[in-house]
Amino acid sequence: MQITGKTKLLGIIGNPIEHSLSPVFQNSAIASLNLDYIYIPFAIEKEHLGELFNTFKAVKIRGFNVTIPHKENVLPFLDHISETAKIIGAVNTVWLTEDEQWHGTNTDIDGFISPLKSLHRDWSSITPLVLGNGGASRAVIVGCSELGCKEIRVVGRNWEKLTQFQASFTNTALKATISVYTWDQLTDLIPDSQLIVNTTPMGMYPHLSESPLDPSQEKLLRKDAIAYDLIYNPRPTLFLQQAHRQGAIIIDGSEMLVQQGAKAFEIWTKHHAPVEVMRQSLLEILDSQ
Ligand code: NAP
Repeated sequence: MQITGKTKLLGIIGNPIEHSLSPVFQNSAIASLNLDYIYIPFAIEKEHLGELFNTFKAVKIRGFNVTIPHKENVLPFLDHISETAKIIGAVNTVWLTEDEQWHGTNTDIDGFISPLKSLHRDWSSITPLVLGNGGASRAVIVGCSELGCKEIRVVGRNWEKLTQFQASFTNTALKATISVYTWDQLTDLIPDSQLIVNTTPMGMYPHLSESPLDPSQEKLLRKDAIAYDLIYNPRPTLFLQQAHRQGAIIIDGSEMLVQQGAKAFEIWTKHHAPVEVMRQSLLEILDSQ
């Protein structure tokens, strides 16, 4: 990859940003298509976001990803926000159009549903069980609704936060209805659940022995269930190992990460994303960690 005077700028903003894997697989994608772009990480404090947007406009950046803690913080700086990003209340992909307008959307939804779509289930008859009610859970809920699920069950540990979370979707364009539960109700919910999604950090490195399911709950998992963990380090988590033991289909968070990046790449470059190159590049770095 040669940087020239014409090289176009892409990037990712967050804080911290050192651990982001997006620069690795985005630059692999750029190199594999021989495009004249470069994707750079930027660590930025919230109070400097306004200056950053002005500077990015001045240097005509083509677009950038947004990660923790700025997915909500960037909203006031955008001229156009996609309907789905409005429902989630967070943006992870921004781009600048020719007429200097900032656009934002949330490709975490596309990333989340991509591996599910290939399973060809009748989603209208499936009631997903979503564990956790943080930021990623919102993208999962919108994704499940986009798939066609009519009702989505959400389990959380703080009833006040959970009911606020549920209320935040009323008067939005979300088609599915949301029902909320506490963790002590989980045992009763598992046998009915054909799709269980872990959006909590339980089981994430270095907490390898943590799982949202205890050993007795593991046995209640359906054999035809899909167990989906948003965590990509480790692959698989203890939760996915439990589900695999019961015969369920398991999906880890690496594909979501690749596919949200692929969608963003296509928005910025208008080129078909080299998904296999991006996937291999991500898995290589994950396996080496
Ligand atoms: P977040 O906003 O902090 O939400 C985490 C949720 O998990 C909250 O509801 C929190 O409950 C709950 N939680 C945390 N620890 C818990 C515990 N010990 N027991 C029960 N509930 C617990 O985080 P996030 O941004 O949504 O991210 C969640 C996970 O998804 C992380 O592991 C992240 O790496 C992963 N993720 C993956 C992708 C991908 O592309 N694969 C994308 C986004 C996120 P409280 O609200 O009560 O604290």
